[in-house]
Parts: sequence; C-alpha cells; structure tokens
Amino acid sequence: MATSNTVARCPHCDAVPPESEVADGWCGSCDKQLPSSFQQRAKRNRPHGEPPPAKKPRGPLLLAGAAAVQCGVAAAVFFALRGG
Ligand SMILES: [Zn+2]
Repeated sequence: MATSNTVARCPHCDAVPPESEVADGWCGSCDKQLPSSFQQRAKRNRPHGEPPPAKKPRGPLLLAGAAAVQCGVAAAVFFALRGG
C-alpha cells in the first residue's frame, strides 16, 4: 500500500522534526536546512499540531437562505394560483 500521507521526514537524516524546527526551516537532528517543499508538506500533514482553523460556512449558509427564500416564493405562488 502506498503511504503518501505519512509524516514529513528530514531528507537528510530521516528524522521527524517538531513543528518549531519545521517553522525555523532547520532540522535539529542533523542541523541542515529543510527544503521549502518539506515545510509545505509538514504543514499539510500536521503530525501533532492543532487541527486546522474552523471556517464559518458563510457561503453555504447564504445559498441555503436563498434556496429557502426561493422555496417560500414558489410555495406562495403555488398556493396563490391554486387558491385562485
Ligand atoms: Zn535532518
């Protein structure tokens, strides 16, 4: 099985640097610079970091509101036509 979602390891010494070292851009185990691609990958994977910040679903809520309004309008028109 492919393990593409594993934690990011230092390309020099194969260590797993903590978040602070990743942010620094230097591996504390071998004292070598970490490539920017490694930093991006480490940020994506977040081995023991906090969960990604929750975004407020503003768009979907607006869409739901618009759909609800449209449903209400359609229902009003329907009942108006039906009731006569
Ligand atoms: Zn290293």
